[in-house]
Amino acid sequence: MRMVVSTGSLTRAARQGGYAVPAVNVFDEISMRAVIAAAERRSAPLIVQISVKTVRVSGTAFITDLFRSLTRDVAVPVALHLDHCPDRAVLDDVIAAGWSSVLFDASDRDLDDAVRETIEVTAAAHGAGVDVESEIENILGVEDDVGSDEARHAYSVAQLADVAAQTGVDLIAPQLGTSHGLYRASPTLLPERAAELAALTDVPVVLHGGTGLSAADFRAFIDAGVSKINISTAVKHAYMQASLAHLEAAREQDRWDPPSLITAISTAVTDAIDEHIVWFGADGRAASAVAGAEADR
Ligand SMILES: [Zn+2]
Repeated sequence: MRMVVSTGSLTRAARQGGYAVPAVNVFDEISMRAVIAAAERRSAPLIVQISVKTVRVSGTAFITDLFRSLTRDVAVPVALHLDHCPDRAVLDDVIAAGWSSVLFDASDRDLDDAVRETIEVTAAAHGAGVDVESEIENILGVEDDVGSDEARHAYSVAQLADVAAQTGVDLIAPQLGTSHGLYRASPTLLPERAAELAALTDVPVVLHGGTGLSAADFRAFIDAGVSKINISTAVKHAYMQASLAHLEAAREQDRWDPPSLITAISTAVTDAIDEHIVWFGADGRAASAVAGAEADR
């Protein structure tokens, strides 16, 4: 039942309410369970995101079943989203499985091809009740083997708004100065660009590469009209650091207990996402997000 939670509806409600829905990348049962626990603890709407790499490793059917199982008795709205996907076969597979939404990453195509293919993907997705996030400018940085450190395509905000209108997509992911992964130098953030785009379109705007930004940075983007913020690196970092600390203690004590390792990882991931939910102003928004989605239907 929770599979029908619409990413478009959640983010439109967020835009109206002046907050952003956390969109969190997970890659296994432990991380998926931990981020859902954070959303429940804070009564927040949530988007669970899966990379193409994780789809290839675990399989669409397994991820779909895992998500269904972990959200069956959850009281907050949780959507399931495919992150950066340039591969039409994977998109078709996930659309057929009935996920909430997909990010068609056409940033490796020239504009004409990007528009034509985004129209095709959107028609197939909407036919199955699946929302589409569109990316035609590449967001810098490589994430799970997708992407580039160099800007390949850059357009004006007017072009981005035109393409969104022409293709009928549900969310837009523009270049906003952020990049994927950990920042080695301070990024030049572009909340004013988000505001210029949001002034031209009602389609919700997505911020990628959120890990490493401050609470004030997030607020500036949300005030500018961003209503979905992607968090991936923070989850990986919490997961691995908690694992390392636990395993070092295990070696010291010569005590080897996998369930306590899983608890340590889960606690760290839940706490990391809990903090982001508060920064995004999404705490306590579960009920209004659901009401918004029903009004949207
Ligand atoms: Zn991204």
